[in-house]
Amino acid sequence: QAKDAGRNTVRFFTGDLNFLLSKRLEIEGRLRRAIDNEEFFLRYQPQVELATGRIIGMEALIRWNDPQRGEIFPKDFIFVAEELGIIVQLGEWVFRTACGQLKAWEDEGLPSITVSINISPRQFMSRRLVPTLLSIIRETGADPRRVELEITETMIMRNLEQSVQTLEHLRSVGMQVAVDDFGVGYSSLGQLKRLPATSMKIDRSFIANVPEDASSGSITEAIIAMAKRLKLRVIAEGVETRAQLEFLRANHCEAFQGYLFSRPVTSLEATAMLKAQAAAMAAETTKTAAAE
Ligand code: C2E
Ligand code: MG
Ligand code: MG
Ligand code: MG
Repeated sequence: QAKDAGRNTVRFFTGDLNFLLSKRLEIEGRLRRAIDNEEFFLRYQPQVELATGRIIGMEALIRWNDPQRGEIFPKDFIFVAEELGIIVQLGEWVFRTACGQLKAWEDEGLPSITVSINISPRQFMSRRLVPTLLSIIRETGADPRRVELEITETMIMRNLEQSVQTLEHLRSVGMQVAVDDFGVGYSSLGQLKRLPATSMKIDRSFIANVPEDASSGSITEAIIAMAKRLKLRVIAEGVETRAQLEFLRANHCEAFQGYLFSRPVTSLEATAMLKAQAAAMAAETTKTAAAE
């Protein structure tokens, strides 16, 4: 194993920077074409309220359907798109599509949920962010109070002054703001207190080691307590096991997201889940009414 790793390292240094560069150029060309050819789509992952087991939100997650390679994950193209600046255009597409979906769900009379949308560093820094999002909200007719923007802790702390201003602006038009990947960014309490956010997402790396690893457990507990103190909603990412869920429940976490409940699904599947939930809720109401 160690020998293999050694060999790879050597190969990396003697060779193939050229290979890496050509790979990158290739991705760049394909990415540009992919936008024109509409090869992107969104998956949706349910966010579930712990107390009721109900879906209260859906996180939109971008996928690239490459004609040759099939479904490609964000880790393999977002950073290139970010570097090339293509992310701004792509981010607008994501926002428009997710808002359109939210409006479609609203129009079908499905239980009202929030749609969470990831914003990239470059998008977040752009002066055009707020006006662009507002015009898309208007264009799609989505309810801004049901739109949640996910911005990572690291992005926010890079320039706290500017971030606070941008977040305040977004909040003033009714949008929700989640601090994504929370716990990995070394923010101080003083900094956090100033953030006009509405929720905090505990990073998956902590949840992965809960409940076995005591320090991950303490960090998770501390984040939940702090979020409550700051009057923010708190949601755990990457919940895969019942033990993790029980740990979160015992520590009064409000919501979770993860493979335990559902992987990210297509918009059709997400719609079916919401319809099933609406039907279950209606049946419950009928039952309670009959019992009275
Ligand atoms: P994120 O915003 O932290 O999204 C959560 C990621 O965790 C998603 O990966 C999701 O599929 C994955 N995940 C959810 N539950 C579990 C679980 O139980 N176990 C494990 N192992 N993973 C789980 P995905 O979809 O590959 O996205 C990765 C990252 O790419 C996202 O992290 C986000 O930073 C970025 N991304 C995704 N969509 C977009 C987008 O539309 N725009 C931008 N700018 N970034 C995006
Ligand atoms: Mg996210
Ligand atoms: Mg994210
Ligand atoms: Mg995250």
